Amino acid sequence: MTCGQDRGQGRGQDRGLERRPVCGQERAQDGAHDRRPVRGRFAPSPTGLLHLGNAFTALVAWLHARQAGGAFVLRMEDIDAARSRPSYAEQILADLRWLGIDWDEGPDVGGPFGPYRQSQRGNRYEAALARLQADGWLYPCYCSRAELSAIASAPHGLASEGPAYPGRCRRLNEAERARRAARKTPALRFALPEDGGVSFVDGIAGIQTFPPGAGGDFIVKRADGVVAYQLAVVVDDADMAITDVVRGWDLLDSTPRQLYLYQALGLRAPRFAHVPLLVNPDGTRLAKRDALLTLAGMRAAGVAPETVVGWLAHLAGWMEEPEPVRPAELMGRLHLQKLPRGEVRLPAELLRRLRAGSA
Ligand SMILES: [Zn+2]
Repeated sequence: MTCGQDRGQGRGQDRGLERRPVCGQERAQDGAHDRRPVRGRFAPSPTGLLHLGNAFTALVAWLHARQAGGAFVLRMEDIDAARSRPSYAEQILADLRWLGIDWDEGPDVGGPFGPYRQSQRGNRYEAALARLQADGWLYPCYCSRAELSAIASAPHGLASEGPAYPGRCRRLNEAERARRAARKTPALRFALPEDGGVSFVDGIAGIQTFPPGAGGDFIVKRADGVVAYQLAVVVDDADMAITDVVRGWDLLDSTPRQLYLYQALGLRAPRFAHVPLLVNPDGTRLAKRDALLTLAGMRAAGVAPETVVGWLAHLAGWMEEPEPVRPAELMGRLHLQKLPRGEVRLPAELLRRLRAGSA
């Protein structure tokens, strides 16, 4: 039985404490036989400028969709209003266009699956939350930040998500819950099934297997009312009929959580591919605020977009030498499974040239 056929079964009763396994190894088939026309997307958060690593992800996602003759969607992930800035959103669109990446649907051009800004899609997320709630997948979590940091040493955390939540509020009885509810607005957590892990085939990373309960029960709505990324991204990708989610490697280990949500919501999961992160020559993460490595910064410094794309194509292994090239000229060169895995170190030579203004 595949996950798709399992729809509507195995839903939680009794606050999710007794549940059938969700898919397990059957997950590996997810999306593999999806015959729908390819729809890819790039979904930046307007909390800063795009840097070289974001450009690499966008380029791979765009090529993957375009090579297949598919549509490309741009979605602005501005769900966290406190951190998002309209000026960044505008700059991101301008930077992508400058790079030579285009899209068929997006916040600026509209499309049949809009709106394409998460800040305008709150009703969709609330509907999904209501369904999860009604089906017994969620429970309120009253833990404070201090209580959560006290468990920071708990094992089995997922790298991108922090330490695993040990399920403390899942075990509260009605009286305890009522007592805590009187004092604090809770976050909502998704109760992971206690049996049945997740495995899926990542287009770049290969077969990924996660044990039952990996990462712990995760938040779908914060206490301050902000819907969590995990939920929004699933609702959006499903609503927008996205078949291929090509995104940064740092989101690889959040994929199991999203697969659980697809299953619980009775939605069809897309194929996933996680693009290696670009890192400094010494292996450290790129500083988000390093203007030198932002598209806007390089553009302002007079670097040509073809030069940027040429370096990215070289790092991806599509070109022997970093020669100037347009994204459209790279059509046919991307083979997901041949991309490097995990991370790609930027050559010191590139950084030296950027600093010298001679990239
Ligand atoms: Zn809690």
